[in-house]
Amino acid sequence: CGFSPITVCSDILKPGGYGLFGQYVEELRQRFDDCAARNIDDFIIKRSKERTDDVQKCALINLNRYADKVLDNKRYRKNHIHEPSIKTSRPLGFFDCIHAPCVDTCPTSQDIPGYIYYTSQGNLSKAGDIILQTNPFPYTMGLICDHLCQTKCTRINYDQPVMIREIKRYVAETAILNEVSKIPKPQQMENRKEVAIIGAGPSGLSCAYFLAIAGFSVSIYEAKLRSGGMASSVIPVFRLTDRALQNDVKRLEELGVKVYHQYEVNESNFQLIKKQSDYVYIAVGAQRSAKLNIDGSRARGVVDPLVFLEEVKRGRVEEYGNRIAIIGGGNTAMDAARTAYRMVGNMGKVYIVYRRTIKQMPADIEEIRAAQDEGIEVMELTAPERINTHNNRVVSITCSRMRLGAKDVDGRERPEKIPNTEFELEVDVVIPAIGQEFAFDIGNNEELKSSAGDYETQMPNVFIGGDALRGASTAINAIGDGRKVAQIIIDREGVNYNTVPENVRKPMNYNWHYGKRVRKVQAVKLPELSPSARKNFNLVVSTLSEDDVIEEANRCLLCDEFCSVCTTVCPNMANYTYLVNPASYTIQNAVARGNNKVTVEKEGVFAIAQTYQILNIGNFCNECGNCTTFCPSSGDPYRDKPRVFLTQSSFDAVNDGYFMINGENEPQILCKKSGQLSKLSRIGENYIFSNEDVEAELYGDSLKIKNVNFKKENVSEFTNRQAVEMSIIMQGLQQLVFDD
Ligand code: SF4
Ligand code: SF4
Ligand code: SF4
Repeated sequence: CGFSPITVCSDILKPGGYGLFGQYVEELRQRFDDCAARNIDDFIIKRSKERTDDVQKCALINLNRYADKVLDNKRYRKNHIHEPSIKTSRPLGFFDCIHAPCVDTCPTSQDIPGYIYYTSQGNLSKAGDIILQTNPFPYTMGLICDHLCQTKCTRINYDQPVMIREIKRYVAETAILNEVSKIPKPQQMENRKEVAIIGAGPSGLSCAYFLAIAGFSVSIYEAKLRSGGMASSVIPVFRLTDRALQNDVKRLEELGVKVYHQYEVNESNFQLIKKQSDYVYIAVGAQRSAKLNIDGSRARGVVDPLVFLEEVKRGRVEEYGNRIAIIGGGNTAMDAARTAYRMVGNMGKVYIVYRRTIKQMPADIEEIRAAQDEGIEVMELTAPERINTHNNRVVSITCSRMRLGAKDVDGRERPEKIPNTEFELEVDVVIPAIGQEFAFDIGNNEELKSSAGDYETQMPNVFIGGDALRGASTAINAIGDGRKVAQIIIDREGVNYNTVPENVRKPMNYNWHYGKRVRKVQAVKLPELSPSARKNFNLVVSTLSEDDVIEEANRCLLCDEFCSVCTTVCPNMANYTYLVNPASYTIQNAVARGNNKVTVEKEGVFAIAQTYQILNIGNFCNECGNCTTFCPSSGDPYRDKPRVFLTQSSFDAVNDGYFMINGENEPQILCKKSGQLSKLSRIGENYIFSNEDVEAELYGDSLKIKNVNFKKENVSEFTNRQAVEMSIIMQGLQQLVFDD
């Protein structure tokens, strides 16, 4: 018949699903054309570049070449750190489940698809405006953000995440640096309230930025000579340029915020500041390194990581020795290790000693990968036991091998020592980067404690956030805390200003979205120094070119407008996208008051905000759970979405679900919830809702209650909420089932 079966290793159970076949065929055709192959056998022979007609031999040669390529690919190496699952903690709703996972994950809720979209259109000015609405440090974050957003990007399950951080960096270096993009216009405020901020690091400056724009009078007290906090003092220059940070800080200071540098806040002046201000935000960071408590940790050669990074950054380069061990797995440990790598010379050696696994390291994945690429030896499941000295000078560390045991309260497998596995690691310097502590004292520090999930301390209108609250964390978490505290203060004063404004852009249509979601598009190449060219303090990653940034921005799937991932990953095509008209419905409660009197009261509003909704066809679904794996929410689409059955008998066999009957111009939908049957019928212009308790007539346009008849004496209340839900599902099923 001319058909030949081909076995392929496919990714059709991943987002894009069967729709990816189109690109398979397109690319196969292109490869055939490239070598002018007439058929598959001819293609196999030509690909092998062998002078033979033996198809099997050529196929084996091709296979071996492919296997070699796979072996060479870092992605398949044991120590490769894979992106974590794209699932977020967001609950999955019955309706309206579309959220961009990158936005959900960003601590400062940046409108990522918004600025990426305008970048893809070449409108950098608008992209910059959007960034400046929620991110006061665009240039700095474009360089050093640990981009949690990228770890949840929908594109991960296609090819690679969109380079969100690099796109922001480009916009910051062009439109924002050149002041083409503008910060939101500061508001005027009557009876301006005074806010004191302690600490001019990312968190304090972020809070100041939003408050100044909202019209508050803001004063910042900073112990150091310069603003910027840890970003200014310790983040290495091969990751962050001074120009970027100073540009961001200057923009903040131009907003009229008063910054008092070299102003140490202590017990007595804190009380004075508090008295003179309406609000206080403590954002002093976690400036003291946690101490390593093992024998030898006070010897010469044991160096504080923050002191080490600050000294190197200031150019006060000391002779540190050429074998350096960093203890810890956080971002400070990575910065210290990568800095040490640049200090030790070509014959030197840098180790990272970490008692858990590489995968459990809290550091940014890219920083861990960069450390590994640079040749730093990451010794996972290794714990230091003691530091050995000679004349009080470090000569080695004795370490033990660890293994993972039972899970701790956080659900992480706890490392435990493997007996008799001690070994000695010869080093000249030990840098214990095992955490940072809060180093601020107001006398009674108990008063600085806040309740879990809250920023307000025991003192009313005194807030704490950033590293001062959460311990050493990331700059973007600190910025996010600053914004959230600003919003609390703004709301408390009743000021009409939202630090996360809604940006409305014209949405793309269904075909645009579907077309994007059935194609893989590889990311552009990141312009970075090769590992062998990094024995210096030059910036490792350069800015993308204009062409590349636009190409990269065009990879974005605009996940704030459309998702439907669950429909493409289902092997049985059991999930469907249906369209509804966004609308608001008044939810009413009808109560029988006796003497045949019924009162109807408004109970609330039910809004359906999104056009694209999801339903599951129970007859097709075998509950394999693949849609759960790829749904970016924490839910299970096949369980959490309306489950529709296609036949009366299959509907009769379940306790929960929907079944649609297409009557002559009078469609009906049946619903079962825990076995209780309800029916909604469209009769003329109105609806009739009925179950074993009530029969109610509802207006066709609004679903408001027109009249209600209680069938049982012991039932005296009825709400139209279920009828509203049924009408929405009916609307969707009518297009799916009855449209031409
Ligand atoms: S594809 Fe775009 S909108 Fe979707 S998660 Fe990635 S960056 Fe965000
Ligand atoms: S659980 Fe059901 S809907 Fe989800 S992928 Fe499997 S068959 Fe499809
Ligand atoms: S995968 Fe499906 S259920 Fe999950 S958020 Fe996307 S559209 Fe909603």
